[in-house]
Amino acid sequence: MFDDAKKPLYPGCKKFTKLSALVRLYNLKIRYGWSNTNFSELLSIISDLLPDNNEIPTSLYEAKKTLGALGLSYQKIDACHNDCCLYRKEYANSTKCPKCSLSRWKINKNSTKENNGVTAKQMWYFPIVPRFIRIFKNLENAKNLRCRAMDRKVDGIMRHPTDTPSWRLIDHMWPTFESEQRNLRLGPKRPRYDINTYLAPFGLKILWKEGVQCFDAYKEEYFTLRVVLLWTINDFPAYGNLCGCSVKGFRLDQNMEKRLL
Ligand SMILES: [Zn+2]
Repeated sequence: MFDDAKKPLYPGCKKFTKLSALVRLYNLKIRYGWSNTNFSELLSIISDLLPDNNEIPTSLYEAKKTLGALGLSYQKIDACHNDCCLYRKEYANSTKCPKCSLSRWKINKNSTKENNGVTAKQMWYFPIVPRFIRIFKNLENAKNLRCRAMDRKVDGIMRHPTDTPSWRLIDHMWPTFESEQRNLRLGPKRPRYDINTYLAPFGLKILWKEGVQCFDAYKEEYFTLRVVLLWTINDFPAYGNLCGCSVKGFRLDQNMEKRLL
């Protein structure tokens, strides 16, 4: 399946592989909210436009099959319109937000009636664990991730995130995490309001405490991969959003500083 995804989009094509073309198109579908039927039709037309023997899937079903087999499947999770919560776990069957009491369903603009069953907001969640597993299954990736830790030089020059004080702080505070060179450190950029709500499905606590079993194609062995959220690139109030604290108004969370440390 990996080789299949690396195939050129059509014989002689050097710009796109089957996978890169599919991911670009899928991104557009998500960004502009194209319906499944529209997307299937578009794929079929693109297939006709491309030269013979092209690799583009001709329907959404085929596209999902390709992405799913590569660990790129996704889940849709309903969210509160105000980003307070996701309708999962204990809230999976709720019809109102447990925090702000807003309806889960879309409100009709003209009649102010609820469109029962039509969700007001949805999160498209691409599970990260299968991606991590897939990264280490690739020989080259597994080798590069190991080199990142082994080639470190301590000369005061910043060449790589491994040279930063925050990276070294993690090494200092959690030596068991540092001792496994393959452990990953994430750094999402520009987290927006209520990012803590949308980070919840990633299971960062489990990835930090327990980790996940991965096969390292370079060392040809299984190991427990652990992950830490190393940093975010944002202003100071966004740190509060990341921790789920109120950062403004009368409900300012006095414990925010403690939670951050
Ligand atoms: Zn809410």
